Amino acid sequence: MSADLQRLNQRLASAKPSATYRIIDRVAERRAQGARIISLCAGEPDFDTPEHVRQAAIQAIEEGHTRYTQVAGVRSLREAVADKFRRENGLDVTWQDTLICSGGKQVIYNALAATLNEGDEIIVPAPYWVSYPEMVELCGGQARIVICNAETGFKLTPAALAAAITDRTRWLILNSPSNPTGAVYSRVELEALAQVLLTNPQVLILADDIYEHLIFDEQTFVTLAQAEPRLMPRTLTMNGVSKAYAMTGWRIGFATGPRWLLHAMEKLQGQQTSGASSISQQAARAALAGPKDFIHQSRAVFQRRRDLMVSRLNQIPGLACEAPGGAFYAFACCAGLIGRTTAAGRTLRTDEDVALALLDEANVAVVQGSAFGLGPYIRIAYALDDASLHQACDAIGRFCQNLR
Ligand code: GLU
Repeated sequence: MSADLQRLNQRLASAKPSATYRIIDRVAERRAQGARIISLCAGEPDFDTPEHVRQAAIQAIEEGHTRYTQVAGVRSLREAVADKFRRENGLDVTWQDTLICSGGKQVIYNALAATLNEGDEIIVPAPYWVSYPEMVELCGGQARIVICNAETGFKLTPAALAAAITDRTRWLILNSPSNPTGAVYSRVELEALAQVLLTNPQVLILADDIYEHLIFDEQTFVTLAQAEPRLMPRTLTMNGVSKAYAMTGWRIGFATGPRWLLHAMEKLQGQQTSGASSISQQAARAALAGPKDFIHQSRAVFQRRRDLMVSRLNQIPGLACEAPGGAFYAFACCAGLIGRTTAAGRTLRTDEDVALALLDEANVAVVQGSAFGLGPYIRIAYALDDASLHQACDAIGRFCQNLR
């Protein structure tokens, strides 16, 4: 076959595959070969979708909700989403100010695809979720990475934001609680960032609130447009049911924002995937409109697991980890392992070497911090039962002890 035939779109050719999915796929391969891997690499709750949500989906099938829906989503779900934004986030919106997508990823991708032109810059604070910079580049923009290290709690400061903004800045992406660090921005911190944004009216803001409900230690979640309503006309606030209701496979994300932007995203979606799954939309409506005890229970479980993991990881020589304020990730510094040699004779030069060696030699899957823009760290998703988490920490501990 000629090389010309296999010529790809240039932006896709230079994009990196999703780092999280690369490891998830590798785990699946190793398991298929019979390996017993404890997977701490995929960021998804290990719980079943709540019973009443599953029943709503079955009922949706029985009642014939099996055809195309409106591109922007069914009205009953859009009303439930608007109600969620009003009730939980204090955003004064109606169903016409919402859009339903096939997962949070589609919200983000389509917002960028709908607005970016060559040369546009997007501020992406690092550590970032692996897909932000790649989506930006795929859509023709340039990711301007701003490193936010442990000294600022992995959070963007107003000074760093101000220094990163140029005339070409089109978007700022803010993710709180953060994947991969679990960092949570307080209202005061958001207000301070908002002061900088108010003086830069050319900047749109994407608030990725997907981990909103996974927030610990009695903190209150605040989203940017709530902290500074004057930013509402240029903020896209996105969320979904994946993390809050253990519905990752149902693929429902949603957003509220300025109507010109939602309409552009809807136009794109209409030529692309059309409306999200009709059955998933009914399930998501039941989740958003239904009881909230699931959210409270899962938050308590994740907080307990966080405490378990942070305490166990900090007892392992070579690892150090602050207690994250939210999400279900521990972002552990592995500087103490770099330069050492494993029992199988591999030298650990980077955090990627650490992640690969942990997978091959300790049968524990984690993701290297450098995939999220900051090394040497490893991201450990603690969305597993306590016994598996203890086993994983035992295995990581043995691996570290056997280093030379
Ligand atoms: N958000 C999850 C993670 O970071 C799912 C995988 C992905 O889409 O990147 O692990």
